Amino acid sequence: MVLELKGDKKEYDKALGYLKKEKVRIQNLSKDVTRDEEKCTHCGLCVAICPVSAFEVEAASREVAFHDDKCIACEMCVKVCPYKAMEVKF
Ligand code: SF4
Ligand code: SF4
Repeated sequence: MVLELKGDKKEYDKALGYLKKEKVRIQNLSKDVTRDEEKCTHCGLCVAICPVSAFEVEAASREVAFHDDKCIACEMCVKVCPYKAMEVKF
């Protein structure tokens, strides 16, 4: 099951505490999606496909930044990246 939790830190911690008390195993998805910086060519294909805008073209360098804190692990970028730079590790 994938859950998105929002709120201030106190409420967030309370929610996590409740889930742990109920013996729900918690895994932070955003940390499981990684980009291999050696493989990424900043081609930009992943930018338009990401549903939560976790990729951003930096104006000055034209490089694609990856904001893993926004990622919901949908794996769309893994499928489209022609250089296999995106990886999901569950
Ligand atoms: S599609 Fe792959 S190579 Fe292209 S910018 Fe995204 S992660 Fe980098
Ligand atoms: S896995 Fe999905 S949400 Fe995460 S960066 Fe890739 S396209 Fe965006």
